[in-house]
Amino acid sequence: MKKLTILGSTGSIGTQALEVARKEGYKIIALAASSNVELLETQVREFKPKFVAVENEVAAKVLKIKLSDTDTVVMSGVDGICEIASIDVDIVLNAIVGIAGLRPTLAAIEAKNDVALANKETLVTGGEIVNRAIKKNGVRLLPVDSEHSAIFQSLQGVPEGSISKILLTASGGPFYGKKRDELQNVTRREALKHPNWSMGAKITIDSATLMNKGLEVIEAVHLFHVKPDDIEVLVHRQSIVHSGIELSDGAVIAQLGTPDMKLPIQYAITYPERAGLCGKRLSLADIGTLTFEKPDTDTFRCLPLCVDAIKMGGLKPVAANGANEEAVKLFLEDKIKFLQIAELVEMAICSQEKVNTFTVDDIFEADRAARILVQNNCR
Ligand code: NDP
Repeated sequence: MKKLTILGSTGSIGTQALEVARKEGYKIIALAASSNVELLETQVREFKPKFVAVENEVAAKVLKIKLSDTDTVVMSGVDGICEIASIDVDIVLNAIVGIAGLRPTLAAIEAKNDVALANKETLVTGGEIVNRAIKKNGVRLLPVDSEHSAIFQSLQGVPEGSISKILLTASGGPFYGKKRDELQNVTRREALKHPNWSMGAKITIDSATLMNKGLEVIEAVHLFHVKPDDIEVLVHRQSIVHSGIELSDGAVIAQLGTPDMKLPIQYAITYPERAGLCGKRLSLADIGTLTFEKPDTDTFRCLPLCVDAIKMGGLKPVAANGANEEAVKLFLEDKIKFLQIAELVEMAICSQEKVNTFTVDDIFEADRAARILVQNNCR
């Protein structure tokens, strides 16, 4: 029986990971989230983990009282989450949203735990440091993001050095086909209507701006050790081809499936084995047509901005990510307009000084500076 820790267990990925665990009968050792004590209590009562960590200190106290009749130990704060990420398990699934996922990923790796990574911001902000830690500790980092899982699945059996290009697909989001003047006054509600995937609010807005695809380009650079120019982004409205690779002989290998995150979640846990999975099977005859086109980077500026940021390197991707996290929060609070998100991301990338070497503390400092810049320029 596999032993699992799930960070971000109350979110979209976290709850689907628990569905997989329920089906496969995995043993849940620890759970973590930010503040949703009601759902955490339900999860603890069902899965009976030894530990649960709550980032918010007040929420942790509330949960401790609620769980006083159980054997589960309640921890709190970032340190508590890092501590549970360090407990020896078969795999730690990190489904926390945002840069908050970086320290727990590093804690899990340093404790020699394999990591199933949904939290793309870990690699966007700390890619080099995470890769060094993986090498030093001899652990595996398995992608959960559907595109990166598709690339990883396509790479199985492919000899090292024979990949010539990554084909990264994008749904195009709810505003596909629209131009900048049509996006001036789009609302939070409209931006939250993703055509194919049901996800947390932050990534749904990132999909609407194409920032999500920009973050995924950076994630792919660190996961697959390719250059940004070796990644071709393709808008594929049907979200059936989840991504693929082109090899040196011109062969293209891709992974296809219905838009269901349970497959990449499960594959990251069972790798290299495959388990059965309920749910709708892909019928290509029913789909009929698959379309691919270049993204509109004049309208959706966040994508080329992220590509520029990773090409410039250093802490530029951290600035892009921090500014985006803050700007998305403000957009969700109706405090800024949709197009301002890209403007603020660009401003933060430009303001970030170019550096060649940096520490985890420098990452959090650059993140903080980007957020302050957004706060000061959001009117
Ligand atoms: P959700 O917003 O649905 O869930 C986020 C989870 O993280 C919740 O459990 C939340 O706890 C927890 N959390 C938030 N802030 C903190 C913090 N500071 N410390 C600890 N825990 C925190 O997000 P998603 O599940 O949609 O996405 C999670 C990650 O997976 C993101 O990085 C996203 O980009 C990536 N991803 C998501 C996909 C999807 O289909 N949803 C697809 C591919 C990647 P609480 O509920 O208590 O607030």
